[in-house]
Amino acid sequence: MEKIRIAFFDAKDYDRQSFEQQNADDRFDIRFYDTLLTPDTASLAEGCQAVCAFVNDNIGPEVIDELVKRGISLVALRCAGYNNVDIQYAFERVHVVRVPAYSPYAVAEHAMALLLTSVRRIHKAFIRTRDFNFSLGGLMGFDLHGKTVGVVGTGKIGRVFINICRGFGMNVIAYDKFPAPDSGIQYVSLDEVWQNSDIISFHCPLTDENRHMVNAESIARMKKGVVLINTSRGGLIDSEALVEGIKSRHIGAACLDVYEEEANVFFHDFSGHIVEDDTLARLISMPNVIVTSHQAFLTREALGNIASTTLDNIQTFLSQGYSDNEICYKCPKLSTCVQKHERKCF
Ligand code: NAD
Repeated sequence: MEKIRIAFFDAKDYDRQSFEQQNADDRFDIRFYDTLLTPDTASLAEGCQAVCAFVNDNIGPEVIDELVKRGISLVALRCAGYNNVDIQYAFERVHVVRVPAYSPYAVAEHAMALLLTSVRRIHKAFIRTRDFNFSLGGLMGFDLHGKTVGVVGTGKIGRVFINICRGFGMNVIAYDKFPAPDSGIQYVSLDEVWQNSDIISFHCPLTDENRHMVNAESIARMKKGVVLINTSRGGLIDSEALVEGIKSRHIGAACLDVYEEEANVFFHDFSGHIVEDDTLARLISMPNVIVTSHQAFLTREALGNIASTTLDNIQTFLSQGYSDNEICYKCPKLSTCVQKHERKCF
């Protein structure tokens, strides 16, 4: 049987490892490319049946046209979020599948790791003791116990994070556009999250509607000293407003695993270069900001699940013409839709 050929963009060593492990039986011919998927690089997918893309591959109209030109009908995202895909334009041109869940624990635990690092100044203490500086000045933190955490988005990751916070004896309030009935979660309005939380953690997808939900206005509604954690998508936070909020001492700390302009920076080594993005440079220079470069998903367990679900998605879609993990634009043809799984429309 002929192998399924996949053009794999933005490939890192850990991707190669986990996908090669899952492809030990050689069912797929995976062509790994370091480059991002762009209109200029889409031609690398010539002769493939599917492209495999990640969070910073921009799958807009130009890329989609390039893929269609080459007869490629399947984009397999190896991530959960799909804000980087123009789903409306993709409709009836290419199909898009994703990995809806691979390890909510990986991301939720990273969010808590960032929070603990920040409030207990572990990032500062680590550097000090490596320099044999054992003084404690400036390292005072605060107890998480008894503090109120506001969770925005109570899906898979949000709920794991809520459970972790409850383990710390924190008071949890939450906002979700679609609250889960009988979940035992105390839902409040978004404004109540802003006003009452000592810590706010974001676990909702990025959409046109919630882009820059953290802005000058919402920051002004928050408690003085609030700690913000974003492991979701950078576009939820207006970075300029965040800088101003920190400079004015209104925001106590920020823990960022994602950044709105991360696409050409995160996942790359710029240690020998001048970083061009002044806002990012300013944020990184602040003692109460911790930045990790979209690392929350990066656990052994998550990578294994990502590789196996992505390859299953591709195989299932190409052999059966649909996948449970397809995301599809909510078209007017819902009633006559040939896709079996209409609930997958967005
Ligand atoms: P999920 O679909 O299980 O949950 C998302 C929740 O957000 C749902 O309950 C939904 O109702 C809610 N929601 C949707 N729109 C909202 C809005 N405007 N305001 C408030 N809530 C809203 O998704 P998940 O698996 O929990 O993942 C959440 C997000 O985490 C993803 O969308 C992705 O952006 C991000 N993520 C980041 C990483 C990382 O490595 N940093 C890894 C995986 C996922």
